[in-house]
Amino acid sequence: MRAEVIAIGSELTSGQKLDTNSQWLSQRLGELGVDVRFHTTLADDLGQNVDVLRIARSRAQLVIVSGGLGPTQDDLTREALATMADVPLIEDEASLSALTAFFERRNRVMPPRNRVQALLPEGATPLPNRSGTAPGIWLESVGTVFAALPGVPGEMKTMFDEQLVPRLQGTERLGPVRVHRVINLFGRGESDFEAEALDLTARGREPEVGITASDATISFRITAEAADSQAALDATEPTARLIYERFGEWIVGEGDVDVVEALIQELEMHQATLAVAESCTGGMVAQRLTDHPGVSRVFLGGVVCYANQAKIDLLGLPPAVLAEHGAVSSEVAEAIAAGARDRFGATLGLGITGVAGPDGGTPEKPVGLVYLGLATRHGVEHRRLLLGADQSRPVIRSRAAKHAMNWARVVLNSEVRGHGPAVSR
Ligand code: AMP
Ligand code: MG
Repeated sequence: MRAEVIAIGSELTSGQKLDTNSQWLSQRLGELGVDVRFHTTLADDLGQNVDVLRIARSRAQLVIVSGGLGPTQDDLTREALATMADVPLIEDEASLSALTAFFERRNRVMPPRNRVQALLPEGATPLPNRSGTAPGIWLESVGTVFAALPGVPGEMKTMFDEQLVPRLQGTERLGPVRVHRVINLFGRGESDFEAEALDLTARGREPEVGITASDATISFRITAEAADSQAALDATEPTARLIYERFGEWIVGEGDVDVVEALIQELEMHQATLAVAESCTGGMVAQRLTDHPGVSRVFLGGVVCYANQAKIDLLGLPPAVLAEHGAVSSEVAEAIAAGARDRFGATLGLGITGVAGPDGGTPEKPVGLVYLGLATRHGVEHRRLLLGADQSRPVIRSRAAKHAMNWARVVLNSEVRGHGPAVSR
């Protein structure tokens, strides 16, 4: 079933408010097997609303409208639907008593203006509103189902789940259930992965595989359809296995599991603890870890050692090492990593120092040069990253933090497979 989602409100087209209803509705409709092909956002204008509803009727079998059901002058959805369907608006008794009761429960007299909310296009069915005043509207016109929902996101969601879904299921209009399975990878660029996945991302492949990038995490999204969600999930399995076989070493996790969540999982699995020494990232690693409640089991703390003296005083960096190699150097990264591990008594110590820009780059140490240090009970190692002299400061810092966490994750993970450094303290 092909659907269109329409968001009505001048506050949306003017950019004052973001249309989040269409995003939510489209996700839910997709899960129900409805193919959303169009999103239209329009201002509070009767003539244009009618035009848009007519266009939607010509190209969709299901049209979900949100907004414009309030009691005020600019709420025109009822009228627009009636005009589109060429029927009069008539007062619905059940909706009027529900409205009256709503105000009585709140010990208020119903303002006369609210009475218009009981008006429905002739032939329409009201959708009761448990959490607000405006009933929704179910209206069929020339083979297309229109469902108008309130604009207030909370009311819209309740009405969708409680009123609309059962009705849609009752009409047997729904197609197969569609699931998206997202596999996240980190450590290489989108085009590198894509070049090795052309057979998977080819158009028309079943199940379909898409590739997206967000903050240097690359995600394969497998979309499969089946009669129920378990069968659809099963249908993703052979493709997921191919991705795991081919890209296993880069895979961080699935769904919401990105680098930081995966690192926390690895630390917990190994009962290992982490401490950080952050120069150019200024606490980003600590911040991202502590975004997760309960992380104190595995994350002990960190030092934002931005100035040289802080590296010396708080982490025991020998001044001679600093003088010889400079703050952005493998030696300093290793020394602060070891210092963090030591001072916090952690299993792992992670150090980050680099040139985040936009100034401060030299030919030998360009903007984007970052050294990571990782201290374990076996000693301390470093890594050198070149994150790009043309990248912005926020991007360089964010990538440095993510690469550092990923390195710690990989080292912990290699432990499971029986090689790599042991991590127990
Ligand atoms: P309305 O039903 O048009 O009176 O809308 C009521 C309120 O819901 C508006 O003031 C907006 O704040 C909010 N709203 C309406 N449409 C949307 C939308 N598409 N996305 C998010 N919020 C919305
Ligand atoms: Mg409005």
